[in-house]
Amino acid sequence: MKLNVTLIQRVSVGFILTWLIYQIYTTITRTDGQVDLTPWLAPIVWEGTFNPKLIDSIYKQQNITVAMTVFALGKYTVFLQDFLESAEQHFFVGFRVHYYVFTDHPEKVPDVKLGGERKLILMTVNSSSRWQEMSLGRMKRLEMLIESGLVNDADYLFSLDVDTKFYGRWGAETLGDLIGVIHAWYYSSPCVLFPYERRPESQAFIPYSEGDYYYGGAVLGGSVKCVYQLAKSCREQLDIDAAKSIEAAWQEESHLNKYFLYNKPSKLLSPEYSWDDQKTKPREIKIIRFSQVLKNYAEVRPNT
Ligand code: UDP
Ligand code: MN
Repeated sequence: MKLNVTLIQRVSVGFILTWLIYQIYTTITRTDGQVDLTPWLAPIVWEGTFNPKLIDSIYKQQNITVAMTVFALGKYTVFLQDFLESAEQHFFVGFRVHYYVFTDHPEKVPDVKLGGERKLILMTVNSSSRWQEMSLGRMKRLEMLIESGLVNDADYLFSLDVDTKFYGRWGAETLGDLIGVIHAWYYSSPCVLFPYERRPESQAFIPYSEGDYYYGGAVLGGSVKCVYQLAKSCREQLDIDAAKSIEAAWQEESHLNKYFLYNKPSKLLSPEYSWDDQKTKPREIKIIRFSQVLKNYAEVRPNT
C-alpha cells in the first residue's frame, strides 16, 4: 500500500514537472505571432505588425477612395443588413468608401445609414438558378464593372463575400497592389494538404510539388488595375473549364489560388481578415476582424 502511494506521488510529481517544463519552454520559444513576411518578402498583416493610426494617416493624406463589391443574389440578401452595418463600424472608417452591391432583388437591399463620404451603388443583375453560377459569375461581373469605368474614381478595390460580418478594424493596413487572404482553415497546414484543384484537366490545377499558401475566396483586393487583371484572368480560366464541363474543386477559390501562385500578392492578410464563426479562436489569433457567419445551406442555396 505504502509503495503504491509513493508510486502515485512519483508519477504525479513527474507529470507536474513535465507540464511545468513544457509551459516554460513554450513561453520562451513562443513569438506569439506568425511569420509576417512571405518568402518573396510581401508583408503578412497580423495584429501587432502595424500602427493603425499611423498607417491610416498616411493614406488619408492621399485622399483615397476605396471601392468594395459585394454580391447578394437569390437568398443571400438576408446577409446584407449585418454585413453593411458591421462594415460601417469597421471597414475603412473615416475614408471615402463606395459599396457596389450586386443583387437580383434590389427591393431586398436594406436601407443602412452610411457615414459621410460613403455611398452605396446598387447593381441590379439577372437571377441564376444554381448557387455555383452566382458565385462563379463574380469574376465576370467584377471584370465588367471595371471595364465600364464605374470604379474609375477608386484607388483600391476589394471584393468580399456577403455571408460575413466585420468584428474588428479593417483599415489602410490592407492596402496594396494585389491582396489575398490566408484561409482560416489552412494557415498552419502543410502545402500538400491544401485543397487546391488536383486534376490536370482543370485550368486551376496545381501539382502537389507547388504552392505556397492556401488563399480564401471570400476576400480579394488591390489596385483597380491589378484586380482587373485578376478578375479577367480568372474569368478566362473559368470559361475554359466551363467549356470542358469541369468545375474546379472549390470553384473560383481554386482559380484564385492558381492565379496567386503565378502572380504573387504584394501583401497577404492573415486569417484575422477571413475567419469562420464555426472555428474557435486559437491563442495565436489575437483578433478576429472579419468572419464567415453560420449559414443554413438548405435555406440559402437553391440547390446544394
Ligand atoms: N452568392 C450569392 N448567392 C448565392 C450564392 C453565392 O450571392 O446563392 C455570393 C455571395 O456573395 C457569397 C459568395 O457568392 O458570399 C460565395 O458563396 P458562398 O458564400 O456560398 O461560398 P462559401 O463561402 O460557403 O464557400
Ligand atoms: Mn461565403
